[in-house]
Amino acid sequence: MSVGATETGAAVTDTLLGELAAELSAEALVTDRDVIDAYSSDKALFCPVGQAAALVRAGGVDDVAAVMRFATKHRIPVVTQGARTGLSGAANAVDGAILLNVAKLNAIIDIDEVNQTCRVQPGVINQDLKMTLAGHGLSYPPDPGSVAISTIGGNVATNAGGMCCVKYGVTKDYVRGMTVVLPDGTVTKLGRQTAKGVAGLDLAGLFVGSEGTLGVIVEITLGLRPLLAAPVTGVGIFPNMESAGRTVTEFMSSGAAPSLLELMDGATVGMINAYGDFGLPDEVGALLLVQSDAPGQAGVAELESFQAIAEAQGAAEVFFSDDPADSEMFVAARRAVSPAMEQYVAGLGGGELIDDVCVPRSRLGEFFARLADIAAAHTVEVATAGHAGDGNMHPSVLFDASDEASVAEAKVTFAEIMQLGLDLGGTITGEHGVGYLKKDWLGRELDAGAQSLQASIKSAVDPLGILNPGKMLG
Ligand SMILES: Cc1cc2nc3c(=O)[nH]c(=O)nc-3n(C[C@H](O)[C@H](O)[C@H](O)COP(=O)(O)OP(=O)(O)OC[C@H]3O[C@@H](n4cnc5c(N)ncnc54)[C@H](O)[C@@H]3O)c2cc1C
Repeated sequence: MSVGATETGAAVTDTLLGELAAELSAEALVTDRDVIDAYSSDKALFCPVGQAAALVRAGGVDDVAAVMRFATKHRIPVVTQGARTGLSGAANAVDGAILLNVAKLNAIIDIDEVNQTCRVQPGVINQDLKMTLAGHGLSYPPDPGSVAISTIGGNVATNAGGMCCVKYGVTKDYVRGMTVVLPDGTVTKLGRQTAKGVAGLDLAGLFVGSEGTLGVIVEITLGLRPLLAAPVTGVGIFPNMESAGRTVTEFMSSGAAPSLLELMDGATVGMINAYGDFGLPDEVGALLLVQSDAPGQAGVAELESFQAIAEAQGAAEVFFSDDPADSEMFVAARRAVSPAMEQYVAGLGGGELIDDVCVPRSRLGEFFARLADIAAAHTVEVATAGHAGDGNMHPSVLFDASDEASVAEAKVTFAEIMQLGLDLGGTITGEHGVGYLKKDWLGRELDAGAQSLQASIKSAVDPLGILNPGKMLG
């Protein structure tokens, strides 16, 4: 099967690769098949993986520009990659493509304490940036679960979210400007350095979440915040997901501004407990993890308000602590969801499809009730965790990947959950992106006018269709 095939060009011959190598820095071009294959997919399951012609590990912006000039000249597809931690197949190889990996462009160029901004190359790992900024009394809040392994460039290209978004917003809220390499190799600056600016269309905003379909981001200017205060952390234990969902709705509509509000169902908590000891109770219907970083006693008051609302909605137990060690342990438990599920599904046949629907918070109770109906109607398992404060939930469909019937049922279940998100006025993807995984669903969410506008923008910026063909807008 041809993967990601477009009207793009000819096979990449050795002669053409020789021409490319002459334009690149030493050792940037990789033609070893095993290495290319090792770089050919991200973390998503059940997405096509094509056979790339070559891998370029860019050593500088000049390498990126050279790849794009070459790709335009010969109409060769290019798949830009950061750390390949994506969950939608957006960084997967397409047939005949050059994989353009920018992870080595990982310098923190400048930290401006006065203006609270920094300029970074795309390959900087999110957590490395956080740690460096802390030494300057600054913070960059966006914190996807992959914070320790994903790149800022990948975070920008997917508009990554995470746990802090309920109070501090998503990646786009921090991106002020960027330098991009366009498909023809032109290097250009988009956006601004300043706190405000409305000169022309928001082209930097357009590139945020564009999944490598418009250009290659080679430098980013981020707005920062002062170092965040240590939070008070609370845990609420509920008999079921509906009562936890109603608690989220009530708490958030009370004017509360928690810095984290995460939810896990009983199955997920069971998997975490099987994975490690994080001090979570056994046999829970659902668990809410909440933090407040409001100053002084305001944080404790906010969690007391959470406790009152949770108990009124049927919580069996609520406790909280301002000991940083407790906070770290509970957040580590939440971060363990991914490896804990991986461990669990290994014994089930290895299949895991992670939904990413986001619904209005007011409809979370209804979402969980109907999700339970979907799960009950199928033989595959569904375990749910997510960023409840944003209404962004990740029901994971768990199944036997070696069994065709199980795979087929998992795909149907995965789709029904996306449809549920749309039925409730939500979106098919809150933060993981469209990539290959949800490409067929984009047209169900966007109306005809929006689809046509997106296609027009794509063809205006990338008229040959060489950037990440077949993904998202393809
Ligand atoms: C355990 C785990 C937990 C996760 N938790 C979260 C979460 O809480 N929230 C969340 O939002 N995501 C989460 N993710 C998904 C993933 O980590 C994010 O999408 C992340 O932003 C991807 O970064 P990356 O460097 O790995 O990018 P990649 O996977 O390499 O690429 C992702 C997309 O960005 C494009 N791209 C990458 N770099 C550039 C660039 N410089 N210029 C142009 N395009 C580029 C690629 O073409 C691709 O389309 C999680 C993933 C894992 C494995």
